[in-house]
Amino acid sequence: MICLGIESTAHTFSCAIVERRGNKGKILSDVRRIYRPPDGQGIHPREASRHHIEHSSEVLSECVHQSNLSIKDIDVISYSAGPGLGPCLRVSGVVARTISSYYKIPIYPVNHAIGHIELGKMLTGAKDPLVLLVSGGHTMLAAFKQKKWRIFGETLDITLGQLLDQFGRSLGFASPCGKKIEELAGKSEKYIELPYVVKGNDVSFSGLMSAAKRISKNKEDACYSLQETAFAMIGEAAERALSFTEKKELLIVGGVAANKRLSQIFKQICARQKAEFFVAPIQYSGDCGSQIAWTGLLEATVKKGVSLKDAFVRQSWRLDTVQIDY
Ligand code: AMP
Ligand code: MG
Repeated sequence: MICLGIESTAHTFSCAIVERRGNKGKILSDVRRIYRPPDGQGIHPREASRHHIEHSSEVLSECVHQSNLSIKDIDVISYSAGPGLGPCLRVSGVVARTISSYYKIPIYPVNHAIGHIELGKMLTGAKDPLVLLVSGGHTMLAAFKQKKWRIFGETLDITLGQLLDQFGRSLGFASPCGKKIEELAGKSEKYIELPYVVKGNDVSFSGLMSAAKRISKNKEDACYSLQETAFAMIGEAAERALSFTEKKELLIVGGVAANKRLSQIFKQICARQKAEFFVAPIQYSGDCGSQIAWTGLLEATVKKGVSLKDAFVRQSWRLDTVQIDY
Protein backbone atom coordinates (compact mmCIF):
# COMPACT_ATOMS: atom_id res chain seq x y z
CA MET A 1 0.00 0.00 0.00
CA ILE A 2 1.27 3.47 -0.94
CA CYS A 3 0.39 6.75 0.80
CA LEU A 4 0.92 10.40 -0.10
CA GLY A 5 1.29 12.42 3.13
CA ILE A 6 1.04 16.21 3.30
CA GLU A 7 2.42 18.22 6.24
CA SER A 8 1.76 21.93 6.87
CA THR A 9 1.21 22.56 10.60
CA ALA A 10 3.66 25.46 10.95
CA HIS A 11 6.89 26.42 9.13
CA THR A 12 7.19 23.44 6.77
CA PHE A 13 5.20 22.46 3.72
CA SER A 14 6.12 18.92 2.79
CA CYS A 15 4.83 16.04 0.67
CA ALA A 16 6.10 12.47 1.01
CA ILE A 17 5.28 9.14 -0.56
CA VAL A 18 5.74 6.08 1.64
CA GLU A 19 5.15 2.42 0.80
CA ARG A 20 4.14 -0.01 3.51
CA ARG A 21 5.94 -3.35 3.48
CA GLY A 22 4.74 -5.39 6.49
CA ASN A 23 5.58 -3.44 9.63
CA LYS A 24 8.13 -1.31 7.82
CA GLY A 25 7.69 1.71 5.62
CA LYS A 26 9.90 2.62 2.69
CA ILE A 27 10.16 6.35 2.11
CA LEU A 28 10.07 6.77 -1.68
CA SER A 29 10.25 10.57 -1.61
CA ASP A 30 10.07 13.39 0.94
CA VAL A 31 10.19 16.96 -0.38
CA ARG A 32 10.05 20.07 1.84
CA ARG A 33 10.03 23.85 1.62
CA ILE A 34 10.52 25.76 4.88
CA TYR A 35 9.16 29.27 5.57
CA ARG A 36 11.87 31.45 7.11
CA PRO A 37 10.69 34.57 8.95
CA PRO A 38 12.86 37.72 8.82
CA ASP A 39 15.78 37.72 11.34
CA GLY A 40 14.64 38.31 14.91
CA GLN A 41 10.97 37.51 14.13
CA GLY A 42 8.76 34.49 14.76
CA ILE A 43 6.41 32.64 12.40
CA HIS A 44 3.66 34.89 11.02
CA PRO A 45 0.79 32.43 10.39
CA ARG A 46 -0.59 34.30 7.36
CA GLU A 47 2.85 34.70 5.77
CA ALA A 48 3.69 31.05 6.43
CA SER A 49 0.42 29.91 4.85
CA ARG A 50 1.08 32.14 1.84
CA HIS A 51 4.51 30.49 1.51
CA HIS A 52 2.89 27.04 1.67
CA ILE A 53 0.27 27.92 -0.96
CA GLU A 54 2.93 29.33 -3.30
CA HIS A 55 5.12 26.21 -2.99
CA SER A 56 2.44 23.51 -2.77
CA SER A 57 2.22 22.54 -6.44
CA GLU A 58 6.01 22.46 -7.00
CA VAL A 59 6.54 20.36 -3.82
CA LEU A 60 3.80 17.93 -4.84
CA SER A 61 5.15 17.56 -8.41
CA GLU A 62 8.72 17.07 -7.16
CA CYS A 63 7.55 14.50 -4.62
CA VAL A 64 5.66 12.43 -7.20
CA HIS A 65 8.53 12.74 -9.69
CA GLN A 66 11.19 11.62 -7.15
CA SER A 67 9.13 8.56 -6.18
CA ASN A 68 9.15 7.36 -9.82
CA LEU A 69 5.39 6.81 -9.50
CA SER A 70 2.37 8.58 -10.89
CA ILE A 71 -0.42 10.01 -8.74
CA LYS A 72 -2.64 7.14 -9.93
CA ASP A 73 -0.37 4.68 -8.04
CA ILE A 74 -1.32 6.30 -4.72
CA ASP A 75 -3.69 4.14 -2.63
CA VAL A 76 -4.38 6.57 0.22
CA ILE A 77 -3.77 10.22 1.03
CA SER A 78 -3.20 11.68 4.50
CA TYR A 79 -2.69 15.22 5.75
CA SER A 80 -1.73 16.97 8.98
CA ALA A 81 -5.11 17.93 10.45
CA GLY A 82 -3.71 19.47 13.68
CA PRO A 83 -2.54 20.64 16.08
CA GLY A 84 -1.00 23.67 14.41
CA LEU A 85 -1.51 27.16 13.03
CA GLY A 86 -4.97 27.46 11.42
CA PRO A 87 -3.98 29.24 8.19
CA CYS A 88 -1.11 26.76 7.66
CA LEU A 89 -3.19 23.68 8.42
CA ARG A 90 -5.80 24.71 5.88
CA VAL A 91 -3.23 24.41 3.07
CA SER A 92 -2.57 20.68 3.59
CA GLY A 93 -6.31 20.17 4.12
CA VAL A 94 -7.24 21.86 0.84
CA VAL A 95 -4.49 20.14 -1.19
CA ALA A 96 -5.38 16.71 0.25
CA ARG A 97 -9.14 17.14 -0.30
CA THR A 98 -8.56 18.33 -3.87
CA ILE A 99 -6.43 15.32 -4.82
CA SER A 100 -8.73 12.94 -2.96
CA SER A 101 -11.85 14.23 -4.69
CA TYR A 102 -10.34 14.46 -8.19
CA TYR A 103 -8.60 11.06 -8.20
CA LYS A 104 -11.08 9.30 -5.84
CA ILE A 105 -8.40 8.37 -3.30
CA PRO A 106 -9.43 7.65 0.34
CA ILE A 107 -8.39 10.47 2.69
CA TYR A 108 -7.13 10.31 6.32
CA PRO A 109 -6.67 13.22 8.77
CA VAL A 110 -3.52 12.64 10.88
CA ASN A 111 -2.55 14.06 14.27
CA HIS A 112 0.85 15.71 13.75
CA ALA A 113 2.24 14.73 17.17
CA ILE A 114 1.31 11.08 16.65
CA GLY A 115 3.01 11.37 13.26
CA HIS A 116 6.30 12.32 14.96
CA ILE A 117 6.01 9.33 17.32
CA GLU A 118 4.99 6.72 14.73
CA LEU A 119 7.71 7.72 12.26
CA GLY A 120 10.30 7.72 15.07
CA LYS A 121 9.22 4.22 16.14
CA MET A 122 9.27 2.88 12.60
CA LEU A 123 12.70 4.32 11.74
CA THR A 124 14.42 3.33 15.02
CA GLY A 125 12.68 0.00 15.68
CA ALA A 126 11.56 1.06 19.19
CA LYS A 127 8.54 -1.07 20.15
CA ASP A 128 6.99 0.27 23.34
CA PRO A 129 8.94 3.38 24.35
CA LEU A 130 8.43 6.25 26.72
CA VAL A 131 8.50 9.07 24.15
CA LEU A 132 9.95 12.53 24.63
CA LEU A 133 8.36 14.76 21.99
CA VAL A 134 10.28 18.04 21.83
CA SER A 135 9.59 20.47 19.01
CA GLY A 136 8.32 23.94 18.18
CA GLY A 137 4.78 22.91 19.11
CA HIS A 138 5.29 20.24 21.80
CA THR A 139 7.18 19.36 24.94
CA MET A 140 5.72 16.22 26.41
CA LEU A 141 6.45 12.75 27.73
CA ALA A 142 4.05 10.11 26.44
CA ALA A 143 3.61 6.37 26.85
CA PHE A 144 1.11 4.10 25.11
CA LYS A 145 -1.52 2.37 27.25
CA GLN A 146 -4.99 1.06 26.43
CA LYS A 147 -5.27 2.46 22.90
CA LYS A 148 -4.05 5.97 23.71
CA TRP A 149 -0.81 7.89 24.19
CA ARG A 150 -0.95 9.00 27.84
CA ILE A 151 0.93 12.07 29.03
CA PHE A 152 3.45 11.66 31.87
CA GLY A 153 4.68 15.26 31.95
CA GLU A 154 4.53 18.32 29.71
CA THR A 155 5.29 22.02 29.59
CA LEU A 156 3.05 24.35 31.53
CA ASP A 157 3.82 27.30 29.25
CA ILE A 158 6.17 27.52 26.25
CA THR A 159 7.71 24.51 24.50
CA LEU A 160 11.41 23.64 24.45
CA GLY A 161 11.54 24.68 20.76
CA GLN A 162 9.89 28.03 21.56
CA LEU A 163 12.34 28.57 24.42
CA LEU A 164 15.31 28.08 22.09
CA ASP A 165 13.77 30.03 19.21
CA GLN A 166 12.57 33.00 21.28
CA PHE A 167 15.86 33.22 23.16
CA GLY A 168 17.81 32.94 19.89
CA ARG A 169 15.70 35.67 18.31
CA SER A 170 16.42 37.95 21.28
CA LEU A 171 20.10 37.52 20.35
CA GLY A 172 19.21 38.53 16.77
CA PHE A 173 19.38 35.06 15.17
CA ALA A 174 17.00 33.88 12.47
CA SER A 175 14.37 31.35 13.58
CA PRO A 176 14.58 28.36 14.03
CA CYS A 177 17.53 28.96 16.38
CA GLY A 178 18.08 25.56 18.08
CA LYS A 179 21.07 24.60 15.93
CA LYS A 180 22.80 27.96 16.40
CA ILE A 181 22.28 27.80 20.18
CA GLU A 182 23.71 24.26 20.22
CA GLU A 183 26.83 25.49 18.36
CA LEU A 184 27.38 28.41 20.75
CA ALA A 185 26.69 26.25 23.83
CA GLY A 186 29.40 23.84 22.64
CA LYS A 187 31.99 26.62 23.03
CA SER A 188 31.41 27.22 26.76
CA GLU A 189 31.59 25.27 30.00
CA LYS A 190 30.75 28.16 32.28
CA TYR A 191 27.44 27.48 33.99
CA ILE A 192 25.53 30.52 35.25
CA GLU A 193 22.68 29.54 37.55
CA LEU A 194 19.21 29.99 36.02
CA PRO A 195 15.66 29.23 37.27
CA TYR A 196 15.01 25.48 37.31
CA VAL A 197 11.24 24.92 37.42
CA VAL A 198 9.77 21.41 37.65
CA LYS A 199 6.27 21.18 39.15
CA GLY A 200 5.11 17.64 39.79
CA ASN A 201 6.23 16.07 36.54
CA ASP A 202 5.63 19.18 34.42
CA VAL A 203 8.14 21.83 33.43
CA SER A 204 7.90 25.60 32.99
CA PHE A 205 10.34 27.45 30.74
CA SER A 206 9.11 31.07 30.64
CA GLY A 207 10.98 32.25 33.77
CA LEU A 208 14.10 30.51 32.50
CA MET A 209 13.84 32.41 29.22
CA SER A 210 13.47 35.82 30.91
CA ALA A 211 16.45 35.09 33.17
CA ALA A 212 18.59 33.83 30.27
CA LYS A 213 17.94 37.08 28.38
CA ARG A 214 19.35 38.97 31.37
CA ILE A 215 22.67 37.07 31.20
CA SER A 216 22.99 37.19 27.40
CA LYS A 217 26.00 39.55 27.35
CA ASN A 218 28.23 36.52 26.85
CA LYS A 219 26.23 34.55 24.27
CA GLU A 220 28.20 31.32 24.62
CA ASP A 221 27.84 31.13 28.41
CA ALA A 222 24.15 32.06 28.16
CA CYS A 223 23.42 29.39 25.52
CA TYR A 224 25.34 26.77 27.51
CA SER A 225 23.53 27.62 30.76
CA LEU A 226 20.14 27.74 29.05
CA GLN A 227 20.61 24.33 27.39
CA GLU A 228 21.98 22.68 30.54
CA THR A 229 19.10 23.98 32.68
CA ALA A 230 16.27 23.19 30.23
CA PHE A 231 17.61 19.73 29.36
CA ALA A 232 18.18 18.84 33.03
CA MET A 233 14.57 19.85 33.82
CA ILE A 234 13.04 17.68 31.10
CA GLY A 235 15.56 14.95 31.97
CA GLU A 236 14.40 14.89 35.58
CA ALA A 237 10.76 14.54 34.48
CA ALA A 238 11.69 11.82 31.98
CA GLU A 239 13.68 9.82 34.51
CA ARG A 240 10.76 9.85 36.95
CA ALA A 241 8.36 8.84 34.15
CA LEU A 242 10.67 5.98 33.11
CA SER A 243 10.83 4.72 36.66
CA PHE A 244 7.05 5.02 37.11
CA THR A 245 5.99 3.45 33.79
CA GLU A 246 8.76 0.82 33.89
CA LYS A 247 9.21 1.24 30.14
CA LYS A 248 12.39 -0.39 28.88
CA GLU A 249 12.83 1.98 25.93
CA LEU A 250 13.05 5.75 25.55
CA LEU A 251 12.63 7.52 22.21
CA ILE A 252 13.24 11.20 21.44
CA VAL A 253 11.33 12.71 18.49
CA GLY A 254 10.57 16.25 17.21
CA GLY A 255 12.88 18.94 15.87
CA VAL A 256 14.86 19.37 19.13
CA ALA A 257 15.82 15.65 18.92
CA ALA A 258 18.57 16.87 16.55
CA ASN A 259 20.46 18.26 19.59
CA LYS A 260 23.51 16.13 20.50
CA ARG A 261 23.76 17.37 24.10
CA LEU A 262 20.12 16.38 24.72
CA SER A 263 20.88 12.85 23.50
CA GLN A 264 24.00 12.69 25.67
CA ILE A 265 21.99 13.55 28.80
CA PHE A 266 19.24 11.07 27.92
CA LYS A 267 21.71 8.27 27.23
CA GLN A 268 22.96 8.67 30.81
CA ILE A 269 19.38 8.58 32.12
CA CYS A 270 18.64 5.42 30.14
CA ALA A 271 21.81 3.74 31.42
CA ARG A 272 20.74 4.46 35.03
CA GLN A 273 17.17 3.20 34.41
CA LYS A 274 18.32 0.20 32.33
CA ALA A 275 16.32 1.36 29.30
CA GLU A 276 17.35 1.29 25.66
CA PHE A 277 17.91 4.72 24.11
CA PHE A 278 16.53 5.68 20.67
CA VAL A 279 16.49 8.99 18.82
CA ALA A 280 14.81 9.80 15.49
CA PRO A 281 17.37 10.23 12.67
CA ILE A 282 18.15 13.93 12.21
CA GLN A 283 16.70 14.06 8.69
CA TYR A 284 13.31 12.92 10.00
CA SER A 285 13.23 14.40 13.52
CA GLY A 286 11.62 17.70 12.40
CA ASP A 287 8.35 18.25 10.55
CA CYS A 288 8.04 16.26 7.31
CA GLY A 289 5.54 14.60 5.02
CA SER A 290 6.86 11.14 5.93
CA GLN A 291 5.45 11.33 9.48
CA ILE A 292 2.01 12.02 8.02
CA ALA A 293 2.27 9.42 5.23
CA TRP A 294 3.43 6.62 7.58
CA THR A 295 0.68 7.35 10.13
CA GLY A 296 -1.86 7.46 7.29
CA LEU A 297 -0.73 3.97 6.27
CA LEU A 298 -1.15 2.71 9.84
CA GLU A 299 -4.67 4.23 10.02
CA ALA A 300 -5.52 2.65 6.67
CA THR A 301 -4.95 -0.82 8.11
CA VAL A 302 -7.96 -0.38 10.43
CA LYS A 303 -10.14 2.39 8.97
CA LYS A 304 -11.82 3.21 5.68
CA GLY A 305 -10.92 6.92 5.53
CA VAL A 306 -13.25 9.86 6.09
CA SER A 307 -15.76 11.56 3.81
CA LEU A 308 -14.60 14.88 2.34
CA LYS A 309 -16.97 16.83 4.58
CA ASP A 310 -15.29 15.24 7.63
CA ALA A 311 -11.77 15.98 6.38
CA PHE A 312 -11.34 18.66 9.06
CA VAL A 313 -8.46 20.71 10.39
CA ARG A 314 -8.23 21.51 14.10
CA GLN A 315 -5.77 23.98 15.65
CA SER A 316 -5.99 22.34 19.09
CA TRP A 317 -5.98 18.56 18.94
CA ARG A 318 -4.20 16.83 21.81
CA LEU A 319 -2.64 13.48 21.04
CA ASP A 320 -4.05 11.94 24.23
CA THR A 321 -7.59 12.36 22.85
CA VAL A 322 -6.91 10.15 19.81
CA GLN A 323 -7.95 6.49 20.02
CA ILE A 324 -5.51 4.26 18.20
CA ASP A 325 -6.84 0.99 16.80
CA TYR A 326 -3.93 -0.22 14.68
P1 AMP B 1 9.60 20.83 14.58
O1 AMP B 1 8.51 21.77 15.05
O2 AMP B 1 9.39 19.43 14.99
O3 AMP B 1 9.96 20.95 13.12
O4 AMP B 1 10.92 21.32 15.37
C1 AMP B 1 11.43 22.61 15.21
C2 AMP B 1 12.23 23.00 16.43
O5 AMP B 1 13.42 22.22 16.52
C3 AMP B 1 12.67 24.45 16.41
O6 AMP B 1 12.30 25.05 17.64
C4 AMP B 1 14.18 24.37 16.27
O7 AMP B 1 14.88 25.44 16.90
C5 AMP B 1 14.49 23.05 16.96
N1 AMP B 1 15.78 22.49 16.57
C6 AMP B 1 16.22 22.15 15.35
N2 AMP B 1 17.53 21.72 15.41
C7 AMP B 1 17.90 21.80 16.71
C8 AMP B 1 19.11 21.51 17.43
N3 AMP B 1 20.20 21.06 16.81
N4 AMP B 1 19.11 21.72 18.77
C9 AMP B 1 18.01 22.17 19.41
N5 AMP B 1 16.86 22.46 18.79
C10 AMP B 1 16.79 22.29 17.46
MG1 MG C 1 6.48 19.07 14.73
